[in-house]
Amino acid sequence: MAVTEPAPAPSLAAHEGILHRQSLRESAARTYARSLPIVPVRARGLTIEGADGRRYLDCLSGAGTLALGHNHPVVLEAIKKVIDSGAPLHVLDLATPVKDAFTTELFATLPARFADDARIQFCGPAGTDAVEAAFKLVRAATGRSGLLAFTGAYHGMTAGALAASGGAGDVRVTRLPFPQDYRCPFGIGGEAGARTAARWTESLLDDPKSGTPAPAGMILEPVQGEGGVNPAPDGWMRRMREITEDRSIPLIADEVQTGVGRTGAFWAVEHSGIVPDVMVLSKAIGGSLPLAVIVYRSELDTWQPGAHAGTFRGNQLAMAAGTATLAHVRENGLAERAGVLGDRMLASLRSLAADHPCIGDVRGRGLMIGVEVVDPETRPSGTDTEAPPDPVLAVAVQQECLRRGLIVELGGRHSTVVRLLPPLTITDEQATAVIDRLADALAAAERSPHRRTPTGSIR
Ligand code: PMP
Repeated sequence: MAVTEPAPAPSLAAHEGILHRQSLRESAARTYARSLPIVPVRARGLTIEGADGRRYLDCLSGAGTLALGHNHPVVLEAIKKVIDSGAPLHVLDLATPVKDAFTTELFATLPARFADDARIQFCGPAGTDAVEAAFKLVRAATGRSGLLAFTGAYHGMTAGALAASGGAGDVRVTRLPFPQDYRCPFGIGGEAGARTAARWTESLLDDPKSGTPAPAGMILEPVQGEGGVNPAPDGWMRRMREITEDRSIPLIADEVQTGVGRTGAFWAVEHSGIVPDVMVLSKAIGGSLPLAVIVYRSELDTWQPGAHAGTFRGNQLAMAAGTATLAHVRENGLAERAGVLGDRMLASLRSLAADHPCIGDVRGRGLMIGVEVVDPETRPSGTDTEAPPDPVLAVAVQQECLRRGLIVELGGRHSTVVRLLPPLTITDEQATAVIDRLADALAAAERSPHRRTPTGSIR
């Protein structure tokens, strides 16, 4: 190996210069860069170091991509091995030993009842491309075109995925209620709320006058991520499986964000024990490099050659990094670890809520955790009444976190859910440091006298 170049010395001027040039040259549509004005130059595990020399605990993890954190040794080793072997780095969708190893490892992690009779399609490298592939697959297999998707869903930014996410688009999508305890659309929450949501879905499909023709498929996230960390109850997942199975509607589980141990099971569908017809996988399966696939029941494999093509479907480095990541998570029981630590973090955050009236709700599954920020002044004290979301305060919390060296993301309908997506390798001590910094940030944001802006001027 060549000697590693020393990282540049910390420099506030370099940091500011880069950020300034970014603001001049990059698109108005840039996202994370606006709320997180940092310039990462080095990273390891949970920690990122900026060009200004500041260090941060990264609980965004590449939007949930970095199951093993930054630059995990097994990932780096796998990448180096491919480079040193002289293997081609780009091969379209041709077979290679690296790809073969990836598929073998991926299938070994999937529920056996699914993997035993599954096919895989390598897609363009983003999650959204795999979502589009899933839609094409079920349309070709059923000869139908409409889709069922849920309130609060996020599936990506290309036309079909965006339409399924509740954005604009000319794809016919029927939107169904996703069960949620907090802000339950039926005002009930709990099991009764989930039962009512399922009943609504069923009646819509069976009512000949509901205006919903037989759909090509139903897409759901076992835990909604961008929608504000909403875990689907296991019983509701099983009900969705029954409802779709009884009506021959393919069920697509979007595990782009929930996969690879994140929620406390290797795949989040395992919590409910359901077997979907299609799984959409991306983010962590590439071990920090871009990779996206769909895996589906072989019976659905009726589409034509070239039905979903793309140049970048053969990223060998991503496959090697992904194989190493999947194997490491499996061999080290990191899914179980995420479940145990996640429960502990949720308990700590729930106990914080007693001192912080701006915490409206704490929810999550495994290391996919959300804290919903509400307006403490309109929340009647001592009650569980749902106060209005407070986007301005949520931004203040995110900024106060950053000042304390903690990177968090905001999500949810009103961007008021502080999201924690730490790597599965986070230690107990680091988890405590994350909670402590968040608690400090909440207190500082609550104290801030200037946090209010006129309605409409938020973000
Ligand atoms: N599905 C889910 C559940 C996601 O969370 C995301 C990204 N956050 C996507 C699909 C789209 O993935 P990508 O951004 O890689 O297109």
